[in-house]
Amino acid sequence: MTTDTGTFAKASVRDAEVEGRRVLVRVDFNVPLEDGAVADDTRIRAALPTIELLRERGGALILTSHLGRPEDREPELSLAPVAARLSELVGAEVPLAPGLVGPEVERQAAAMSEGELLLLENSRFEPGETANDPGLAKTLAALADVYVNDAFGAAHRAHATNEGVAHHLPASAGLLLEREVLELTAVRDDPARPLCVVLGGAKVSDKVGVLERFLEVADRLLIGGAMCFAFFRAQGIGTGDSLVEEDGVELAERALARAEESSCELWLPHDLVIADEFAADAERREIENTAVPDGWMGLDVGPRTAGEYAEAIAEAGTVFWNGPMGAFELEPFAAGTRTVAEAVAAAPGTTVVGGGDSVAALTEFGLADRVDWLSTGGGASLELMEGRELPGVEALDDA
Ligand code: ADP
Ligand code: MG
Repeated sequence: MTTDTGTFAKASVRDAEVEGRRVLVRVDFNVPLEDGAVADDTRIRAALPTIELLRERGGALILTSHLGRPEDREPELSLAPVAARLSELVGAEVPLAPGLVGPEVERQAAAMSEGELLLLENSRFEPGETANDPGLAKTLAALADVYVNDAFGAAHRAHATNEGVAHHLPASAGLLLEREVLELTAVRDDPARPLCVVLGGAKVSDKVGVLERFLEVADRLLIGGAMCFAFFRAQGIGTGDSLVEEDGVELAERALARAEESSCELWLPHDLVIADEFAADAERREIENTAVPDGWMGLDVGPRTAGEYAEAIAEAGTVFWNGPMGAFELEPFAAGTRTVAEAVAAAPGTTVVGGGDSVAALTEFGLADRVDWLSTGGGASLELMEGRELPGVEALDDA
């Protein structure tokens, strides 16, 4: 287990003065919904330590989050199901305000007392949110006396609820956001060696920043997922009907060139599972090489590759995994991802996993609690790993 491995340069919620004050708390309640209910409450639970701390200290909490990508006020993207689930988790009533700002919201906020909770409606119903509108940030700030940001998953965006508003109030980091930054920064800057990074998923372009960064700092970089076909195309190997990201080929070529210069080993699959279509009942074959014939597509790494990746994971002092090894949603093509997930769960080194689908895969395999740190932030964790500043973190007060 990693614990507090580093120092965090931003003000912490632990030191915030909240007694008898209204605290605006930016949380990441961007959760999956099914039939009008929360399908996975991981992100809500992850915010509970900060919420409990602030309630115990006598704050009145005004919670704000976005949900999905609404074009306008889409009723199916209301936070009502989230308010209901949160209410169950904290054992207290959590009313849902009709909007992010406005006279009724102001009235509800003004009437709150110590320990009470209020959830503001989906912040992206307000067009000024993603535009980081200064007027909106100011109006929002006027609802509260103090601001806390615990929404690590949104920290790579400069929006009104997580960037603009922080400039108008005493602003500190919540417990989850702080821990995310510490855990991920430790892997990037101070890993126990060897550092083994496993990258998969759909697109090279999503992950090229992390890939190039880790070619500098990792000892082994293992590539899987559809991403590998951009590399094979760059190497002149046939990819058949596999998902190849055209823009990724040049990026892959550049990464291959960098790997030549680097002391980091870049591993690519050398066997594959192929199918004649993207479907669970497709015809399935294992091939001993990576040349995908015409009319076929690669949907998983082969068993030999998965086994070698598992060994590298077992030998590592630190493992960072982002992105599944194949189309794991289809059971016949989940084996590579499962082998990697099991290796990560069993690894003696420090293990950190980021990325929505990789975390979903671990959860599906029942292995989520066997990893040292599961990041709640996909895009945010990648940008942090790349070494980019996260606007949601930068905007907070310095410690
Ligand atoms: P994460 O969310 O963990 O960062 P990504 O979103 O980058 O991961 O990629 C996950 C998606 O990539 C999954 O939907 C998976 O089906 C898809 N995928 C992985 N390998 C393949 C493949 N060989 N062919 C098609 N899709 C793939
Ligand atoms: Mg994803």
